[in-house]
Amino acid sequence: MLTQKTDAKTQGRAVPAEEPSATGSLSAPPRELDSLICYFEGGFVPMRDAKVSIMTHAFMYGTAVFEGIRAYWNAEQEQLFGLFVREHMERITRSCRIMLMEPIPPVDELVGLALETARRNTFREDVYIRPQVYKSDRAIGVRLHHLEHQLSIVAVPFGNYIDTESGVRVMTSTWRRNADEALPARGKIVGGYVNMAFQKSEAELNGFDEAIVLTPSGHASEASAANLFMVRNGTIVTPPVYDDILEGITRTAIVRLATDLGIPTEVRTIDRSELYVADEVFLCGTGVQVSPVIDVDHRPVGTGEVGPIAGSIARRYFDAARGRLPEYRDWLTPIPSD
Ligand code: PMP
Repeated sequence: MLTQKTDAKTQGRAVPAEEPSATGSLSAPPRELDSLICYFEGGFVPMRDAKVSIMTHAFMYGTAVFEGIRAYWNAEQEQLFGLFVREHMERITRSCRIMLMEPIPPVDELVGLALETARRNTFREDVYIRPQVYKSDRAIGVRLHHLEHQLSIVAVPFGNYIDTESGVRVMTSTWRRNADEALPARGKIVGGYVNMAFQKSEAELNGFDEAIVLTPSGHASEASAANLFMVRNGTIVTPPVYDDILEGITRTAIVRLATDLGIPTEVRTIDRSELYVADEVFLCGTGVQVSPVIDVDHRPVGTGEVGPIAGSIARRYFDAARGRLPEYRDWLTPIPSD
């Protein structure tokens, strides 16, 4: 899902965010990916030893599912916090069911493995944890059934994916979201992410930051790897699960934050042109976090500046994710750094 922006000098390395930001600064030097510890097919090994064959079914056909989990470093408390680790492991379990990948370890065990992967790397910075379950047979033949599967988990330092402060500019993609009856967006299926790659590249190559993607029937679904929200007349609106979205974990968190702030929320279908007349638009997801949108298809959103509701939701979200709000501690799991 997430490809942090890299240049030639940083290829092959995980890089921290280029600049410290109000949402938290990253100060550790780049670390060689190869020496990071990952979980691979039953044990913890340096990434250089975690290798699969080019005949692996998942490599040939995209038959894998994954999660992207963030862990935030709280410098004052000297503590790394995994965000919604359990919720992500519950979702990967559902993705596995869709993809005929059962059995997999119980959610508690998956949570423990993710935390242990991060712990073994003694991070003191923000981290991206990516568990993946993949069809591991070396086999030719496109299918889902009668194939073995394996689990891997990597954890790498990670900064901001797209701008979270000054607002992003988006375009409506000419590529449609894969429909549930073609390739369920509800499952976080590796092969399905080629659809998002078309959208993201089209947007970036045309000078935008992100894409808004429409359902096959033409309604606003989500962004390339983020859920979509708009504000109209003081109400926060987001598309329903039947509009071919990933059932986002951050999306659920935003609804809770809004409710706690006394802002009404509504889940309903959104037309493309409704985004042109919305007071505010913002994206949310583990990767993008909360990213206000200031321009859709060359139409300024509201005043063209980050709106007050998106701004206050974003501030609360980052404070909660970094462990600064006791009322949202149930979102977090402390990860020991010894
Ligand atoms: N939609 C898509 C297609 C995504 O890849 C993501 C990122 N996982 C999201 C939405 C946001 O989901 P979440 O908040 O669970 O990260």
